Amino acid sequence: MARVLYLGGLGRSGTTLVERLLGELPSVRTLGEIVHLWQRDIRDNERCGCGSRFAACSFWRRVGDLAFGGWANVDVNRVHALRDAVERTRYIPRLARAYHPDPQVREYASFYSRVYAAAAEVSGASVVVDSSKHSALAHVLRWADDIDLRVVHVVRDARGVAYSWTKTVARPEADGSDMTRYSPGRSALLWNAHNAAFGLLARRGVPVRRIRYEQFLEDPRTALLSLAGFAGLTIKPSDLDFLGDGYADLGVGHSAAGNPMRFTVGRLPLRRDDAWVRSLPRSQRRLVGAVCAPMLRAYGYPLNPSLEPS
Ligand SMILES: [Zn+2]
Repeated sequence: MARVLYLGGLGRSGTTLVERLLGELPSVRTLGEIVHLWQRDIRDNERCGCGSRFAACSFWRRVGDLAFGGWANVDVNRVHALRDAVERTRYIPRLARAYHPDPQVREYASFYSRVYAAAAEVSGASVVVDSSKHSALAHVLRWADDIDLRVVHVVRDARGVAYSWTKTVARPEADGSDMTRYSPGRSALLWNAHNAAFGLLARRGVPVRRIRYEQFLEDPRTALLSLAGFAGLTIKPSDLDFLGDGYADLGVGHSAAGNPMRFTVGRLPLRRDDAWVRSLPRSQRRLVGAVCAPMLRAYGYPLNPSLEPS
């Protein structure tokens, strides 16, 4: 049974950074956002984190051979039909009910569990990390019988997330297209919905560890030791030698899809990005702060951070 660490949270909350640091731990293999594997990799042959096209990456070729007898045997249309039928944010209340789900939920989950099991075997890792982020997919995976699912719920200040969604970020692997953008109002609503969905998942008995991105960056060493414990790994202090004062030294990874940071190799600065405090217009900041106030408070974020030194 594959042990899966699922990184969840609204996009732009720092999951890729957490993923990259986890990927440097022994016995961990990070896979990127598997939710996009079907279209972007199997079908569109986009680039793996190692720089190769998906079809040319030897790691992923071996995973596909073991999981499906080759990626060509995956019916991507079927995966998409199942996704549309079961993996939507609006279906979360249905997925969260206690009784047996629609058989399509298990069928959809089985595509993921086959990838996880094969990736664990090919890499020899005891933990594989899927940073798909989507809360609905985490609720689907709860119903897979053959994975040991543990969820890391990454939370970042809703105003920082909203500011990040207003910026244009290119997707280097997709030649000329940009990542999606959301208005601050839309981002605030999504922030509430996705974060609440992970709270619900925890109440359904799934092991969920919530981390605040800002806190993670303040002391990545302690945070990683704690996450390794949550993943059932024993880590020696020397396993964290890739962390320096304010930076991490990253090796090559095989992330299948996700934020462009997945391509970074070498020294990555680790610093908080608080640009929103200065750059998010006051009206938008008020709007997001008001919409997200109950959960910002619950997570321990100051409602007026410019007045309170962090
Ligand atoms: Zn690769």
